[in-house]
Formats: sequence, C-alpha cells, structure tokens
Amino acid sequence: MAGLLAQKQIESVEDLLLYYPYRYLDQRNLLKIKELVPGQQQVTVGKIAACGVAYAGKRRIFEILLVDSTGAMSLKWFGFYQKQMMAMYKKGMVVIVSGTVTEFRKKIQMIHPIVQVIEDVSADDEVKPEEDIEPTLKAPGIVPVYSQVAGIGTRSLRRIIARLLEPFVSLVPDPIPEDIRVKLNLIPKNEALLEVHHPSPETSAEDLEKFRTPAFRREIFEEFFLMEMGLALKRRSVKREAGTSIQVASENVDAWKQGLPFQLTGAQCRVLEEIFADIAQPHPMNRLIQGDVGSGKTVVAFLTALAAIENGFQVALMAPTEILAEQHYLNARKILGSFKLPMALLTSRLTPDEKRRAQARIKKGLFPLVIGTHALIAEKVSFPNLGMVIIDEQHRFGVLQRAALKEKGNHPHVLVMTATPIPRTLSMTIYGDLDLSVIDELPPGRQKIQTKIIGEKQRRGLYQFLKTRIEAGEQAYVVYPLVEESEKLDLKDATQMSEEIQRFLPEFRIGLLHGRTPPEEKETIMRSFKAGDIHLLVSTTVIEVGIDVPNATVMVIEHAERFGLSQLHQLRGRVGRGHQASYCLLMTPVGKTAPAYQRLQVMVETEDGFKIAEEDLRLRGPGDFLGTRQSGLPDLRIANLIRDYSILKEARKEAFAWIEKDPHLMMHPPLLDVLKRRWKEKLALADVG
Ligand code: ADP
Ligand code: MG
Repeated sequence: MAGLLAQKQIESVEDLLLYYPYRYLDQRNLLKIKELVPGQQQVTVGKIAACGVAYAGKRRIFEILLVDSTGAMSLKWFGFYQKQMMAMYKKGMVVIVSGTVTEFRKKIQMIHPIVQVIEDVSADDEVKPEEDIEPTLKAPGIVPVYSQVAGIGTRSLRRIIARLLEPFVSLVPDPIPEDIRVKLNLIPKNEALLEVHHPSPETSAEDLEKFRTPAFRREIFEEFFLMEMGLALKRRSVKREAGTSIQVASENVDAWKQGLPFQLTGAQCRVLEEIFADIAQPHPMNRLIQGDVGSGKTVVAFLTALAAIENGFQVALMAPTEILAEQHYLNARKILGSFKLPMALLTSRLTPDEKRRAQARIKKGLFPLVIGTHALIAEKVSFPNLGMVIIDEQHRFGVLQRAALKEKGNHPHVLVMTATPIPRTLSMTIYGDLDLSVIDELPPGRQKIQTKIIGEKQRRGLYQFLKTRIEAGEQAYVVYPLVEESEKLDLKDATQMSEEIQRFLPEFRIGLLHGRTPPEEKETIMRSFKAGDIHLLVSTTVIEVGIDVPNATVMVIEHAERFGLSQLHQLRGRVGRGHQASYCLLMTPVGKTAPAYQRLQVMVETEDGFKIAEEDLRLRGPGDFLGTRQSGLPDLRIANLIRDYSILKEARKEAFAWIEKDPHLMMHPPLLDVLKRRWKEKLALADVG
C-alpha cells in the first residue's frame, strides 16, 4: 500500500493527513428520486438498474439508469472513456449521486454527476427484485471524497485517513505564526485538518461546496502563505546578490531616443526609466516586461541592451524560434543602425564552420550584441563579460534554459519579455520573484482590427474577400488548429484547404505550413511571406509567436472554437501592424447559442489583451491557460488561484511583511521547518537557516 501511495507522493503520515478531499458527499440532505427538483444541486441514492453506451444522433453518451422505490432517473456523460466507465459501474450497485438536476423530455437527469459507489456487486450477484431496491446508507453525514489513488479503494483510503487523523493530527506543525493567525482569525492547523477531513454536522452546505469553511480558509491561506514566503525569499536572495551597476546618463538616453525611427510611447519611456533605475543598483535586475502584442517591447529591450553595451558589457538576446531571432537581428540592425554596433546572429542555421567562427569572436568580445535562439546556451558559447541577458517570449523557455543563459555571465541583469498578457492573479505567483514593468499603451496609428465570427455558409464570401484584399496588394493568413494524428476529427485539414483556396484563387501564391513541414522549408516559406512573394499563408498555429509582417491585413482562423482566447488574441495580433485596415475572421461551425460561440464573442467585443486573458483564465483555469508544465505554476493542493484570489493577496502581503520583520525565519521555527521541507528543491533557500 505504501508503494501505491508513493505514486501520489504520499510518503508519510503527514502527507496522508495533508491529502485533502477535493469535495464532499453531503448526505445530510439525501432526497428520494421523486423529490428531486430541476435546477438544483442535489444528492440522491439509488441502485443502478442499467448502464451502457447510448447514442443521441452522433453523440456518444454513457448512461446509467438509477432507481429507488420512488422512481427512476438517468445519469449522463458526454466524452468519456468507455472502458473505464464500463469497469467502474455495474448493474446492481448502490451509488450516491450528486449534481445539478435537469429535465430532459420530461425526465429527471443529472449530467456528469459525482458518483460514489457505496455498495458493490460481486460478479455473480443477481439483481434483486423490484421491492428490494430501497438502498440503505451505512454512514450518513458528510463524507469526504478523495481523489483516487490507483489500487486503493475509495473506502479504504477514507478509512486509513480517518484512522490516522485522531492520533497524529496534533503532531502536524503549524507554519503560520500565531500573530498572523490571530490577526486574520484563522483556526489552528490541527483543528483545520480535523474539520477538513470530517466537517462537523452543522457546517453550512454552501460553505462546503464553495470551500469557504473556516477550515478551508485557513488551509488555503497557509498554502499561499508558504508559496509567497518562498517567492519572497527567492526575490530577496536575488536582490542581495552582488551584481554590476550600469549607469545611464540621461543625455545619452535622449540621444538614443533621437536616433530611433519613431517616437517612443509614454509607456515605453516609463518602462525604460524603471529598467534604468533598476540596473543602476549594484544587484542584478530580474525584470519582466509585459505588454500586449505590438506594444513595442523590442525597442525597449534594444535600448536596455545599449545601456549595458555603453558600460562595456556584452548582451545576449534569446528568442524561441529562428525566425524571431532573425527578425530581432534585422530589427536591431535597423533600429540601432546609427550606433554601428557589431552584432552576431547565432542560430542552428549556421554551418558548423560559421558557428565555430562566430563562437570564437563572441569569446573575444568582438560582438557587444549577440542575438540567437537556444543555440546561445550551447556549451561552446562563452562571453568575456556578459552583463545583460534578454529573453523574448520567455514562457517558451524552461527554467533551466533561462538559468543556463544566465550562467554565461557573472550575475548579469536579466530582462524577460512576454507577449502573453498574464492576469495579475497569475503573474504574481509564477513571476512572483520578478519585478514587473507593463507597457500598457500601443504605438499611435494602430488600426482597430475588425473582428467577425462567420459560419460555413459565408465561406464563398470569405474567399471573395481574400481576393479583394490580395488584389489590393495586401497579404493574409489562414490558420488551422493543429491536427493530432491520433485525432480522427473531420476537421478540414490545412493541406486540403490550401488546395481548395488555390483552386478558388488560382492567380495567387499560397504557402502552406504545418506541423510536419521540415524546419528549413518552414523558414523559407516564412521568409517568402515576409518578403511578399507569398500572398496567402495557410498554416497550423506555428506562426503564433512574434512574427511581424506589416503588410498582412487579414487573419482567418478556422475552427476558432478550438483555440483558447489568449491564443486567438496572439494570432489576431499578427495583423493590424501596418497602416491599412485589418480584419480577423473567426470561422466556426458552432451555433450562436453554444457556449463556445459566446466565448468567441469576447474577441469581437474587446482588443484588450489583459481583459481577454482574464476571461480565458476564468474559463480554462490556470493549468490550461499557461499550457505547459514548465510554466512555473505551483502545484497547489487545496488553493485555487482564481477562486481564492483574495486570500492569495492577503497571504502575499503577510508573507512579504514577515520576511521584513524576521529575515532569518527564527521567530517561528515550524515555518522554517515546513518551508525547507516543502520548497527546498523548487526555490533557492540557500541563505536561510
Ligand atoms: P511586441 O511588443 O509585440 O514585441 P514589437 O516590439 O515587435 O512588439 O513592435 C511592434 C511594431 O511596432 C514593430 O514594427 C515596431 O517597430 C513598432 N513600434 C514599436 N514602438 C513603436 C513606437 N513607439 N512608435 C511606432 N512604432 C513602434
Ligand atoms: Mg515581440
């Protein structure tokens, strides 16, 4: 059993006691099937009279027919693993179900209810006769529901935890200092754990449902508090690290600004000042620039680079793709042209020979500015005096890759940029150790991008529209969702569509990019598109990041409902970069009343990346929003970044204040103890304890 538990990182009694239920079965208000009322969240108990896969048109449904002495109802699932469902539910089982009651064709049902098996059937059990279907409950009250541990039955798990709780709960240390606990009216750890696993009978059902019982509030606070404490420590250790101060004279800045092909926006100037104040300190800067697509982060990065270069340092700028690195390189040549800086472009496109030569020169310090892809972190690349590291679209890089580039300097200043607007909710936690600068203003003269949702019926009109735009000398993108080979969905795939479009617009050159296009070919196509040799680019989402083709004015997104809002926003940001009117057309087969359509409506209503991100986050949750495991999102056991945002803010305030007051964490030993155990690997706690 220990082995099974270890798979869930449960290795001690403490871990088990901290294995929180993710919900409860509230059996205090158990209703008969006949008593259920549509529209309410209710609980009932019954026997499975039949179960299996049914079809409603093309949709597969897993359906259970549940009965008790008063009536029958059905339980339905859409999108399920048939094998798993068939193995889980058997005719004759007694189950408690909880969910929102709905009505369908005059019959009572629950869609995706929570089901708890309370009486199993052995394989040869006969289904009992009708009169015997009244199920009985052995354990009424509020029952915790734990997420499954493979190989251990739900009931066993519940029993184990229940048995360990009483004798051991008082041994679990309380990391929250008493001052804070009392001030914020939080109950002690052991009380909270008892309550979390076994809520007292008078607990309000609503509080339980919403994770707002005093026990939850306290545990959620603790989790955030520890997380923020870790971030506060990490941030402080960076702030204390010795670094080299970079001084920037304001006359220089004025002169640099004069040398630019355009005038900086107020937001760009403000962010530059924040950066210059920061790098003047004798500690490394660790700063994130957030700005919507097209807000002009690059030029800010270039001027920051210039400041470091003037002070005798080299600067490395790393971008996630070859095209982006190249674009930065060309841009730098253009924007910093008047400064006559030798600069190098280091990507895997170089021949081994070219690479070796470039590396040798970088090593000698002949290039003050080196721009590249992850080729920059190759072992052979070294700098004599790397003082500044700039990372574009930093969410594309893992923590280790970022660290590897930093290692090439001696505590260099670090500037990272991201075009994915991240709601404050999240940026505070994933980038909690970074200082934040926000460019919240777009350069003047940007066209509003007209966004429309269109259906299959308008396809002809769409092609016609593309034709007029291209004839006017503009360019267009048509983007498809990435089709996984395993997926057997009848999405019109990019290849087929590019052929269809070509037939309709035979006089134009159409490029095709998809997941399986070899990298060199991809580069060639992107380059031709940038050069205007290709009029229309059909692609899967590979163009998503940072590409700047000002002449492209139309972005068509097929199956728009399959994209996240932030992704759509990124894609839309590829147009509207020049002076012509631009369009974003969201093609979708879903009907106006569908939730997916409503979601797309957000795109029509606003162009504000932060608003879109908030909405996206709300709809998809933080994990999907950020997309990767590498994103730095903490593994939270009980707290939820969105649901519990107000508690997070409170916890952050208290954590940062505590560090000020007790920098070595001597005042409340359990805090240091828990922090060390929980965050040691994740956060550098080198300078405490
Ligand atoms: P992003 O923030 O998405 O990286 P870029 O830095 O690529 O945006 O800038 C988008 C475009 O806007 C570029 O073509 C850039 O030259 C231009 N640009 C940046 N700042 C200004 C400005 N202050 N005025 C006019 N154009 C600007
Ligand atoms: Mg950019």
